[in-house]
Amino acid sequence: MQIFHTISEMRAWSNAEKLAGRRIAFVPTMGALHEGHLSLLREGRMRGDRLVLSIYVNPTQFAPAEDLAKYPRDLEGDLAKARAEGTDAVFVPNDAMMYPERFQTYVTVEEVTKSLCGASRPKHFRGVSTVVAKLFNIVQPDTAIFGEKDFQQLVVIRRMVLDLNMPVDIVGCPIVREPDGLAMSSRNKYLSAEERAAALSLNRSLIEAGRMIESGEKRADSILARVRSFIEDEGKGLMRIDYASIVDAETLRDLAQIKQPALLALAAFAGKTRLIDNRCFR
Ligand code: AMP
Repeated sequence: MQIFHTISEMRAWSNAEKLAGRRIAFVPTMGALHEGHLSLLREGRMRGDRLVLSIYVNPTQFAPAEDLAKYPRDLEGDLAKARAEGTDAVFVPNDAMMYPERFQTYVTVEEVTKSLCGASRPKHFRGVSTVVAKLFNIVQPDTAIFGEKDFQQLVVIRRMVLDLNMPVDIVGCPIVREPDGLAMSSRNKYLSAEERAAALSLNRSLIEAGRMIESGEKRADSILARVRSFIEDEGKGLMRIDYASIVDAETLRDLAQIKQPALLALAAFAGKTRLIDNRCFR
C-alpha cells in the first residue's frame, strides 16, 4: 500500500494508473476508521481496479465552536485497517497544502444545502463540496463512494458533480450500525455510557416511524410528533433535538405527506456531541 503525503505524488500515481487504463475508486474520509468506512472501502474495491482512501480532517467544514481540534485521529490504526481491506493508496494531505496562503476559491451548492444540517451548520457544506472537488481534482477517480449516514452530503456531492460536469460516478452505501442499532460514527467515541444509551433513541425512533408509515400513516407532522416524543422519552431527557424532518430524498424539500422516496432525517445532541441518523423510504 502506497502512502502519499503530497499532492504531486498522489497525482503522479493516479496519472500513471489512468494511463495504464485502470479505473480508480475513491473513498474520502476524515479518518478514525470504523466499520462504516470499511464498508465503503469494500464497495470501492469491487468497483475499481485501484482503490484510494483519503484521510483528511478538513478544517473548512467545521465552525469555530465545533470539534475540529479534538476530532479523533488514529493514523497508524487507520493505515492497518486500510491495508487489510486491500487499499492500494492512501492520501494524507495537510492543511498547508490543501489551503495555502491566500486560498479564496470555494464551491457552493445552493438549494440542497439550505435545510437540515445546512440550517444549523451554515458553512459546513461549502467546506465539504470544496474539499471533495479538490480531492477529485487530485485523485482523479472514476468512482467515489460515500455513506448514506451523511445523506445530505451525498445529495450535495451528486448535485456538484452534475452541475460542474465532473467525470466521477457517485455511489451511495447503506448506514452501518452497531449491533444495538446506533449508527457508527467517529464521534460516538465522545459519548459517556449514559449518553450512548440515550442515543439509541434515534434509531429506535426511525424504526417506530417506519412502523407508522408501513401501517399507512401519510402525515409528516404526526410521524414527526411521534419521533420527537419518542426521542424525548427514550432519551431520558439527555437528548436535545436539533431537527427532525421528513423531506423529499432528492430535493430535500419538506414533505407534508409521505411521497416516496422520502427521507426522515434526524440531528440531536447527546450532551455536547451532535449525532445524525436517517432512514430513507423508497
Ligand atoms: P467521515 O470520515 O465521517 O467524513 O465519513 C467518511 C465517509 O464515511 C462518508 O461518506 C460517510 O457518509 C461515511 N460513513 C460514516 N459513517 C458511516 C456509517 N455508519 N455507515 C456508512 N457510511 C458511513
